[in-house]
Amino acid sequence: MRPDTPAAHTAEAERLLRTAAQYPEDREPLLLQAAAHLELAGDRPAAAALYDSLLSPEPANPHLIRALKAANLWEYGHEAEARAIIDGLRSARPSEAAPWEIAAETLEAHDELEAAESTLTEAATLLGAAPELPHATQSLLITRHRVRRMLALPHDDWDVRADRLHTGVVPLDELHDPKRLWSLGSEDPVELQAEIDRLRSELGTYRTALSRPFPVAVLHWPEPELDELLAAYPELEAEYPTYRAHLTDIEASLRELSQAGTPNLGIVRATVPSYEAFAASESTHPSNADLLPQYATTLAARGRATGWPPARSSSCWCGSGRTYGECHGSDLP
Ligand SMILES: [Zn+2]
Ligand SMILES: [Zn+2]
Repeated sequence: MRPDTPAAHTAEAERLLRTAAQYPEDREPLLLQAAAHLELAGDRPAAAALYDSLLSPEPANPHLIRALKAANLWEYGHEAEARAIIDGLRSARPSEAAPWEIAAETLEAHDELEAAESTLTEAATLLGAAPELPHATQSLLITRHRVRRMLALPHDDWDVRADRLHTGVVPLDELHDPKRLWSLGSEDPVELQAEIDRLRSELGTYRTALSRPFPVAVLHWPEPELDELLAAYPELEAEYPTYRAHLTDIEASLRELSQAGTPNLGIVRATVPSYEAFAASESTHPSNADLLPQYATTLAARGRATGWPPARSSSCWCGSGRTYGECHGSDLP
């Protein structure tokens, strides 16, 4: 992880804007990610300017950009404009979960819990019926669970589903218990440890701000690409002893991240030419292993990640042609 300082976020935003100039076809995801960093740097007007430039001409994800724009505007005092955008979104009824969730979280952040809850319920009614929910819809149901706990509402079917979807160490009901907010400063070591675990899980949630709508992604080198990479840069053999080990490593790292409560995970496919171009743009040599995670982050920011885990009956991410349930997910319950 990079240091979480305003200067680091500004530098990262600038790097993403340079990448956007280099890859105009990926401008939209890159500018969105740059805007997230500008928000975290505290430069809200600059983020607003990026959202505006993304909205003209019509982008691929207009609802998502409007929701992010509203969240940003409200944060620096433009409440009326933000509310108007959120009302517009709710009547447009987008078919993706992310804009709904961002609009609801914006309402929640400004203590409009009832409005947040009804927004999330509208979205759940629209999107929550599928038997296997995509990551964004799962995340929406978990946010809805939190808001409803704050309102002391009884569990409904979607809350029960949210409880089952949550994979963290601390159960969702405990994590979202409003009373726990006051237990910090306790002398009881057991309670303190529970509080630390809770805060860790919350941190996972905070990281979503940066990863939305981009997953935390792990690199996958298809076999011919890996052969070519290691032939050209044998220094990287320490990272990738064999292709089979590389695949096992990908699945294990993603499971570990998921167990630690990291939401929105993905895999990005690496190629030697694009990696070399990336190294050149960072003015360093491809044999530098420190470059690999940055390359993964940049590919994810360019919108190139595939979500993980795949459904059991979908093809495995490794490209073997078998289903995930028969391949890298075969040992899962
Ligand atoms: Zn629950
Ligand atoms: Zn596989």
